[in-house]
Amino acid sequence: MTTVNLLDFDLEGLTAFCERLGEKRFRAVQLFRWIHQKGASSFDQMTDLARSLREKLPGVCHVTALPVLSRQDSADGTIKWLFDVGGGNAVETVFIPEDDRGTLCVSSQAGCAVGCRFCSTGHQGFSRNLTAGEIVAQLWHAEHFLRQHLCKSERVITNVVMMGMGEPLQNYNALVPALRVMLSDHGYGLSRRRVTVSTSGVVPMMDRLGQDCPVALAVSLHAPNDVLRESLVPLNRKYPLAELLDACLRYLPSAPRDFITFEYCMLDGVNDQPEHARQLLTLLKGHGGRGVPCKINLIPFNPFPDSGLHCSPRAVVLQFGKMLNDGGIVTTVRKTRGDDIDAACGQLAGDVLDRTNAANRLAERRRGAAQPIRIVKISKEGQV
Ligand code: SAH
Ligand code: SF4
Repeated sequence: MTTVNLLDFDLEGLTAFCERLGEKRFRAVQLFRWIHQKGASSFDQMTDLARSLREKLPGVCHVTALPVLSRQDSADGTIKWLFDVGGGNAVETVFIPEDDRGTLCVSSQAGCAVGCRFCSTGHQGFSRNLTAGEIVAQLWHAEHFLRQHLCKSERVITNVVMMGMGEPLQNYNALVPALRVMLSDHGYGLSRRRVTVSTSGVVPMMDRLGQDCPVALAVSLHAPNDVLRESLVPLNRKYPLAELLDACLRYLPSAPRDFITFEYCMLDGVNDQPEHARQLLTLLKGHGGRGVPCKINLIPFNPFPDSGLHCSPRAVVLQFGKMLNDGGIVTTVRKTRGDDIDAACGQLAGDVLDRTNAANRLAERRRGAAQPIRIVKISKEGQV
């Protein structure tokens, strides 16, 4: 008999599940807290549940994490996990510690169907959507691992960004329950401002997110006009810039922050010229008559084999940022430390994520081979 993984449920779902078992609603809260706040996976640990319930649960449900294929620790505290999601697929999750926060970059799909030209995940193609439980499992594992690892009893992860593999708004039905677990006071208790969904612009789903579960929104823009954006983000053919920016304006009234973050990947000679900065200012400050309240985050392109693209020189990135700041839009640039930026949120290492490689690693692990540990360098946000 297949039993249910309780990581798949938000509190409402778990409550309905408990009711189907003939249990009172408050049992769901107890269970939920044990799982997410205490990291329990065995019902025996849940000492305040009635013995009869503890005995009943293993026959109908379980709490199962994702198998870890590898974990890489950097000297600066960044930790990267590669999780096995079956069928030779793997997804990556990155923890980025900073002085005042701990951010977890979470994946929503194995691969991605959008196929952006500058993205290694897009080049791999789409394998499948993650379930809500597989999205939550990344946070569950990371949070409880980190508490142990860092000897902390309270929360370590303060922010979640859906900027790992995949387009979260093309996996909406799993995304929303997963977000609700993150936001729930009985779950991870994260504020809406500290949970960010990043999207390449799935307009109808941006509207639904605003109604169902408004969290901070980042929109991957990458170009100031439709012709260029179409060549970089194929989804632009379906949802061109004017529609995308309209959707941003519709999102803002329900958003926890009063601005949208636009991400802009800096590609040498492609979208990084002064003319592009001028067009961007005109577009964002003029759209809808009053402009779109926003901030811009410039991401230096992280190269990967066969992309045929290069990162803009540092001076060009800084000049582009200066033009935007001078033009009145607060712009930050993601600073990189060292050349190897494989763990930078937004470009989760193409080599490790390659499905064939992931399958090879799984096979190696099964044969008992040691996992290679790589030092991972992180990028940091900084004002231009
Ligand atoms: N699919 C979503 C979220 C995942 S990608 C989206 O596209 O927004 C997270 C961010 O990383 C996006 O802004 C994306 O455009 C950016 N990104 C992807 N590949 C990159 C690369 N090679 N270098 C720098 N940024 C990249
Ligand atoms: Fe998918 Fe985002 Fe990569 Fe585009 S940038 S291919 S939407 S993961």
